[in-house]
Amino acid sequence: MENKEILEIAEFTLKRFTHPIEKPVFEVMKKTKFVKYLKDSTIEANLEKTPAFVAHLPDGELIVFCNEIIEQLTSNMKDKRKFIEAVTMHELFHIWNKHRCVTSEEALMSEEEVHEEIKKEFPGLAKVLEKFE
Ligand SMILES: [Zn+2]
Repeated sequence: MENKEILEIAEFTLKRFTHPIEKPVFEVMKKTKFVKYLKDSTIEANLEKTPAFVAHLPDGELIVFCNEIIEQLTSNMKDKRKFIEAVTMHELFHIWNKHRCVTSEEALMSEEEVHEEIKKEFPGLAKVLEKFE
């Protein structure tokens, strides 16, 4: 999939998100850069299984995707689009929840919270992500 398509799907997903958040910026990064930033900005562990993350910048929220990791995770998947929608939705709920996790326990709790929220509002997308847990 092209980077451009990922960004389009992210914008499409943002339109379906009904909670009030400041509009985030979306970006696709090369894996080397993505992994470096991810290590700095989050404690969400398994790098090979993390296709996107939120960076809290001073002037707003940035959602970063990694095309290579998305390709790896969806290699056996027919509907890659659904996966990107689900991943985007997941990050949007993180932004809405506004948790700044410090400990790994807090991070785990915030993952569970996001999962429950998606399950309630977008059960189809929640199912897509459940396969990866
Ligand atoms: Zn998460």
